[in-house]
Amino acid sequence: MSRIAYVNGRYLPRERAKISVEDRGFQFADGVYEVCEVREGSIVDERRHMARLDRSLNALHIARPMSPAALAVVMRETIARNRVRDGIVYVEITRGAARRDFPFPANTKPTLVVTARGNDLSRLEQLAADGVAVVTVPDIRWGRVDIKTVALLPNVLAKQQAREQGAREAWLVDEQGRITEGASSNAWIVARDGKIVTRPLGQDILPGITRSVVLDVIKAQGLAVEERAFTLEEAYAAREAFITSASQIVLPVVRIDGRPVGNGAPGLIAAALRRDYHRHAEIS
Ligand code: PLP
Repeated sequence: MSRIAYVNGRYLPRERAKISVEDRGFQFADGVYEVCEVREGSIVDERRHMARLDRSLNALHIARPMSPAALAVVMRETIARNRVRDGIVYVEITRGAARRDFPFPANTKPTLVVTARGNDLSRLEQLAADGVAVVTVPDIRWGRVDIKTVALLPNVLAKQQAREQGAREAWLVDEQGRITEGASSNAWIVARDGKIVTRPLGQDILPGITRSVVLDVIKAQGLAVEERAFTLEEAYAAREAFITSASQIVLPVVRIDGRPVGNGAPGLIAAALRRDYHRHAEIS
């Protein structure tokens, strides 16, 4: 956990870091967030994460609480105060605190919270070596999951179901039986024909930053990729499968709903993408 949190202008010990009971993030999930990887004390792909944050804020007409340059300073200060070398930095912006009423309040300052915490790198490396299990659940989310909002209850329930079934991630399945994405990651397979497949961008998936960098890695490695929706049946029959997110980079999937993927061992393509990832990411 973050020991020190930045909240609306102050760095505070976690126990004293508080937001209002009238905060719209708390009452309506009326807020957005970003998670960036921190690697050797630097922020990975900050420019792209901050561009997506702007896009989320614009989509919901939430004002920026501070300039991009000031936010960059706060993120670094929060990382430093928490002594994070390898881990994540978390930024949340809500519409702010106001008397509870559904429409946007007038003249309300947005709430800004920044936290940072370390990751257990050896555990992540172990997961990359062993691979992870996923289970599939119906995608019951709203129609604008391309906006990175804190309205994550369906994701929470899906992830909990995965945990109860001994899996790390849940893959969400649309009404046509096609995978949209993971509860907190983008979903990929290597199909029978050897092509890497992931769902195209749209309002039904989050435009993952890791996803976009992995597409660059795929191109640099000269591998064939197709951005199209794939079915659960294709996933069961895939040669390989993997997930991507800022906090995990690339993790191979070795079981889907209890069935082994390929020969049940982590795939070579997932390993190669993970290996080369940080050569293509921007580190600042
Ligand atoms: N999809 C969902 C639903 C997520 O919550 C996340 C990350 O939290 C991702 C995809 C991966 O996005 P990124 O690579 O930007 O971390």
